[in-house]
Amino acid sequence: MLDTSPIAFPGDPAYDAATGVFNLAGPAHPAAALTATGLADVRAAISHASARGQGVRIHTTGHSAGAATSMTGALLIRPILPGGVEIDPNRRLARIPAGTPWSAVVQAAAPHGLAAPHGTSGTVGAIGYLLHGGVSLYGRKLGLAANHIRSVELITADGHVRCVSAAEDPELFWAIRGGGGGFGVVTAVEIDLFPVTDLIAGAAFWSWEHAEDVVGTWYDWTLHAPDEVSTSLRVMNLPDLPEIPPMLKGGPVVCVAGVALAAACARDLLDPLRKIGEPVLDTWQDCGPEVVPDVHMDPDEPGTFIGDHLLLAEPGREGIAAFLRMTGEGSGSPLIAAELRQLGGRMAVAAPAGGVLNRLDARLAYMGAGVPELRGTPEEIIEHCDKVRAALGPWDTGRTAPGFVKGLDRPRGHLSEADVRAVERVRARVDPDGLFRGDAMPETMIVP
Ligand SMILES: Cc1cc2nc3c(=O)[nH]c(=O)nc-3n(C[C@H](O)[C@H](O)[C@H](O)COP(=O)(O)OP(=O)(O)OC[C@H]3O[C@@H](n4cnc5c(N)ncnc54)[C@H](O)[C@@H]3O)c2cc1C
Repeated sequence: MLDTSPIAFPGDPAYDAATGVFNLAGPAHPAAALTATGLADVRAAISHASARGQGVRIHTTGHSAGAATSMTGALLIRPILPGGVEIDPNRRLARIPAGTPWSAVVQAAAPHGLAAPHGTSGTVGAIGYLLHGGVSLYGRKLGLAANHIRSVELITADGHVRCVSAAEDPELFWAIRGGGGGFGVVTAVEIDLFPVTDLIAGAAFWSWEHAEDVVGTWYDWTLHAPDEVSTSLRVMNLPDLPEIPPMLKGGPVVCVAGVALAAACARDLLDPLRKIGEPVLDTWQDCGPEVVPDVHMDPDEPGTFIGDHLLLAEPGREGIAAFLRMTGEGSGSPLIAAELRQLGGRMAVAAPAGGVLNRLDARLAYMGAGVPELRGTPEEIIEHCDKVRAALGPWDTGRTAPGFVKGLDRPRGHLSEADVRAVERVRARVDPDGLFRGDAMPETMIVP
């Protein structure tokens, strides 16, 4: 008999621990749940579910809970495996066990002068992010984070531990990188790290009187920006909370945040911006990679996050003006943050050995998010998201980045129809009885 963690049921504190989610908009209510702390736990949970005809669901932090389908009747596995992040500085590799947040990877790699392809939040789970493509803060130089996966260790429905890579089951290795889940429980991944020597990162905020000039200057710069720099432009309308710096409260501010892998490249952006007007807060500075997960100042406490996402073609000044009109002062927007994230560079280039999702064919990613505990009802937030969506409609590519879709009702279009079918064939091979079916991200909009 294997020594495994017990499966927990509603009412049990272990159930609450396993089902907790970062995005409270999508509470998890499976029939049973388990925090798996070893491979034996995962295997035992799979056979428990299989014997009862239950579906198996997986989550780590619940950052994507708002977009998850119902877990009713399912067994939820939260894999938190031991061992910690292992760094091989000579081969520039990190082995990341399931359950690891990006902050732990970044802190382990930084003493070696190495950085990881993480996004804007250190609390996001590395594996969930990587499996969904991963739009990194270094993305314009590195491309989608999933392209930097060397191998994936997973336990499939038959209970086997498989290590897939370009050499071992390349078809599954292709499908699992961006295919939307539903293949099994990933227990570890190995990824490439990259050296950083001349890093500058931060966020600068301006009061609304400078918004039009800041946004226009940023946008014009993005048209010819070097790949070394990845930035975002945000309109933020922050609540009066003690943890928010006072100069950022009391009305919308506009923020340019990001990272440059060559400090001089960032100055070409920051110098003209700083001449427009004194930022009310400016954290851009030379730094090491350990600082980067904090520069975007994403929330790190759970909350109810409701929002929307589009991948945009070149919006021109007209599209940028529409974005400002719908999210800034006088718009009546209940959104706490509305963002245009710079894509292009290597993000737009297909990686020859990449997964099914290996590039984003768009100029900017739009994300908007509201928090009903702080401003607006859920209905008002969604209604406003729909208005922004309509205003940005002329530049909507119809595509989406899987990690950014916030709600089940929001359109998705991550993959082409042919790729969706090809991924389905791989799923059917590794999970013939559809045990993990509920974990596969639904495609509500297929792009030809
Ligand atoms: C504040 C915030 C900032 C973000 N910033 C970025 C960003 O900069 N770039 C970006 O690309 N995305 C970003 N995201 C989106 C994030 O990448 C996705 O939400 C991602 O899916 C989170 O992974 P998770 O494991 O933390 O979340 P979870 O909700 O726990 O998991 C999401 C899904 O990942 C899969 N999964 C997780 N763990 C495993 C496992 N061990 N085995 C198999 N499947 C697994 C499951 O299908 C699960 O449903 C952000 C999200 C938030 C809330």
